[in-house]
Amino acid sequence: MKKVAIIGAGLGGLTAAISLASQGYQVDLFEKNNHCGGKLMPYELGTHKFDFGPNTITMPHVFKQVFEIAGEKAEDYIQFIKLPIHTRNIFSNGTEFDFTNDFAYMKKQLEQLDSYGGTQFDSFIKEITRLYNLSEKHFFFKTFENLSDYLAPKLGMALLQVRPNESLHHFFSRYFQTKEVIEAFSRYATYIGSSPYVSPATFSLIAYLELVQGVYYIKGGNVQLAQAYEKLAKKLNVNIHLNTKVTNIHVENKKVKHIEFENRENYLPDEVIMNADLLKAYPELVNAEDRPHFTTKKRDRYQPSISAFVILAGLNVRNDQLLHHNVYFSNDYQQEFKDLFTHHKYSDNPTIYISNSSYTDKTQSPDGDNLFILVNAPPLQKDGGLGIDPEEYKNRIYHLLENKGLSIRKHLVHEKIITPQYIAEKFGAYRGALYGLSSNNKLDAFLRPSNFSRDISNLSFVGGSTHPGGGSPMVVISGLNVASVLSKRK
Ligand SMILES: Cc1cc2nc3c(=O)[nH]c(=O)nc-3n(C[C@H](O)[C@H](O)[C@H](O)COP(=O)(O)OP(=O)(O)OC[C@H]3O[C@@H](n4cnc5c(N)ncnc54)[C@H](O)[C@@H]3O)c2cc1C
Repeated sequence: MKKVAIIGAGLGGLTAAISLASQGYQVDLFEKNNHCGGKLMPYELGTHKFDFGPNTITMPHVFKQVFEIAGEKAEDYIQFIKLPIHTRNIFSNGTEFDFTNDFAYMKKQLEQLDSYGGTQFDSFIKEITRLYNLSEKHFFFKTFENLSDYLAPKLGMALLQVRPNESLHHFFSRYFQTKEVIEAFSRYATYIGSSPYVSPATFSLIAYLELVQGVYYIKGGNVQLAQAYEKLAKKLNVNIHLNTKVTNIHVENKKVKHIEFENRENYLPDEVIMNADLLKAYPELVNAEDRPHFTTKKRDRYQPSISAFVILAGLNVRNDQLLHHNVYFSNDYQQEFKDLFTHHKYSDNPTIYISNSSYTDKTQSPDGDNLFILVNAPPLQKDGGLGIDPEEYKNRIYHLLENKGLSIRKHLVHEKIITPQYIAEKFGAYRGALYGLSSNNKLDAFLRPSNFSRDISNLSFVGGSTHPGGGSPMVVISGLNVASVLSKRK
């Protein structure tokens, strides 16, 4: 029986573990933290429960596929709830624009907010559907094992058809005319940790995911997904080693010989899958001479995706004006991205996202709102510096929200600030990036580091920094893809 070691029990690692174990591999999963799910992490403050990490769940069919390959039904483990209104966008002038799958309602709102957009809405949906279908067919489930895969004519043709040369913001500006409406759609760039002003229009497929397929919440908290995968992995006899940090990958003759842990013990696998962030863990765990195609210099040239400044706030009241997902836009959206990516600094006047899952599921916080307040943050400085005073920045965010009529401090019973430094340390995320690499340039968007090491024959990668990209459904796809290739190599 082939032995596979997986480093990291994020969604990507768990998926690969389940897939390979269900095909008869002996799988050992090593995770440095004391929970499975990586960035999808439960957090409790008194009676307030929070999902840290993915709050917005799209592509449920991808998550369900993991159960199906193991011959199980997702419904026996978790329940996806479709949100009737995905997101309430609140512009700086107080106008609201709700995103929903109800196209009649979308058009009705657009008639008021952007009459041109109302007339274009059907062709907009048609185009984002086309972009999604092309990307799914030619990109998501393809693995790029060698150069010929990258040079395949079909891929080249497909790439040309997915609007790689147009920016997301420009794309949305062709269908909508009101600045605020364009910005509400442009925010989808942040789902891949990037700027809408430069990342390719291809990613308007995220609008398809939400507007056509829907936005979901998992009953009992999105962390139920990670817990269900953990349960399934155990059922398939995956050995899960929590609190076990891998400190070294020893390579001999271009093959991993063994992996080493903090306590100096060794494990000898046939295959190794690295779910720990490639950008950080590969250079840290493998000696430079064993990875000539992935030098530290090369790594340093990649632009990390945005990070996040998060406040978990447990309140003793319920705010009537909040839905499940809420976005309070600033009055200068473009400046925010200049701050993040050009000046590498926190915005003084940021757009603020609030997830209040207790709107949908009161069991998450029976005594009042459970607010997950997130502001886009620049990746950590190269020396690991944060660049702000967290307390001051938190108070600025509260102040901005209070000016918008949302009172938090008066009703606060629990609070926790989570900075990019925490994200970097806790999850081993390169410079605290949420999604691995940014997709601000075409090369990084379409040619992420391969899932397979070019230098070490039995080392592969899953997770946000590799193909097909960041975000929870994509990292699950990376786990499925890598497991599928390895099982064919048997
Ligand atoms: C605040 C925040 C909000 C987000 N919002 C969304 C959202 O709304 N929707 C969405 O789809 N995505 C969202 N994401 C992104 C999503 O969380 C990630 O894309 C996804 O969870 C990453 O999964 P992964 O398997 O690639 O890696 P991770 O979850 O990072 O897992 C990697 C694992 O490797 C472990 N590890 C690292 N080094 C070692 C080592 N040396 N030894 C052993 N173990 C190690 C880490 O502890 C970690 O558990 C968000 C992320 C954050 C942080």
